[in-house]
Amino acid sequence: MPFSTFTREEHEMLFRHVGYARDFDKSLQQRIFKRARMMREYSATEAGRESLRKILPLKNKRNHVLMFKGQSTRTASTFIASILNLGGNAVPLGWDASSMVKGEMVPAMVRTLYAAGYSSLIIRYDDNDRDVIAEAISTCEEFGLDFFIVNAGLANREHPTQMLLDIFTAEERFREKLLGENLRIICAGDLAYSRTIQSLAVGLQEYKPKISFVSQPEILIPKWVKKELNAANIHFSEIHEPLENIIGDLKADICYMTRLQTNLRKDWGRNPAADEKLQRDFLLYSGMTGKTAAKAPATTLFMHPKPSGPEWPEWFEKDPRNISVEQIVNGLHIRKALYYERFAGDDDIEIELGRIMPVTFHSAGGDVVATTAAEIRAICSHDTCAAVKLRQSDEWGKIKPAERALLRHKPFMFCPEHRPTLPTK
Ligand SMILES: [Zn+2]
Repeated sequence: MPFSTFTREEHEMLFRHVGYARDFDKSLQQRIFKRARMMREYSATEAGRESLRKILPLKNKRNHVLMFKGQSTRTASTFIASILNLGGNAVPLGWDASSMVKGEMVPAMVRTLYAAGYSSLIIRYDDNDRDVIAEAISTCEEFGLDFFIVNAGLANREHPTQMLLDIFTAEERFREKLLGENLRIICAGDLAYSRTIQSLAVGLQEYKPKISFVSQPEILIPKWVKKELNAANIHFSEIHEPLENIIGDLKADICYMTRLQTNLRKDWGRNPAADEKLQRDFLLYSGMTGKTAAKAPATTLFMHPKPSGPEWPEWFEKDPRNISVEQIVNGLHIRKALYYERFAGDDDIEIELGRIMPVTFHSAGGDVVATTAAEIRAICSHDTCAAVKLRQSDEWGKIKPAERALLRHKPFMFCPEHRPTLPTK
């Protein structure tokens, strides 16, 4: 996978923070997906993992802090793992353990963490009372802090990194359909309170998918989402029928499910009888029942941002159409890609990575030598030739074209095969 050719300035113009789903247009998403594939490729070998561990230390961006108001297993753990994989330290600082409970304001917290030497702040905020992401980002802009603010879930509105990993997962499974503007997706579940579904609907707009929102009549997709979809000319429908009755006919590529967002519902717990009815209908209208599983086509894949509730029974975990574990793995690569893009999308990292990139050298005499890009002295000037010369010998041999594509900082020479013949007179 070739490295980026963007300059540092272009990178900074692309994005400085992970704020909102709508900040990631299709072209920025595609850049991040490309980088995520590179992260996946590097993560697959020990040599690649070693390269990745140099990235944050090399840029002197070692320390990163998480502040979560609200629970999280997957988001927090994959952010932490991503930062560790890139050689940084991730410090989880619970909201309740910070001075925020003593009334400290977000701008003061941001300035404190920046002064303490942290390079990024990953925030989750589950309450609906304020937009802490906007407060944190405007503090960085106002005080000129090179501090990366990352939205890891904001109230019932926004979850941009989940959106990126969800669209990436869809693209890895249905590239032609997604890019060909033919993806059919069902969004089922708590449409009113699911920030993952809302961010997904926003992020998918430029791919022109066909969306079916499926829920009980009491749970409706918010008006602001419908307004955005209408403005983008997206074909969507709202269906209030039990999922098991319609899943066979809809022939969707993806059925995206969520749990009832009891933690984000303001009125939850006030009326137990009403809660029980809501939960019962929820299972019927947007849950995985035995009938749903039986009637869903073999080609319909099921996604869930997790955690799941009774709508996603344990027995479904083993169904081959369940791709929720792929979402978690992709989330790791997407989060690494975001940190890479923000801090290391420029040339010096490329050279550094190139120096330790493993290559396999096939000598003209038939020897196969496992070595690294550091040992390569020169590459053939011919565009499509993958011949290289090693440092220690004068011998020419071949590497893979994909390896050759990464060596952009080596001296060029003509290999014997492509050496121009000099005029004989
Ligand atoms: Zn050549």
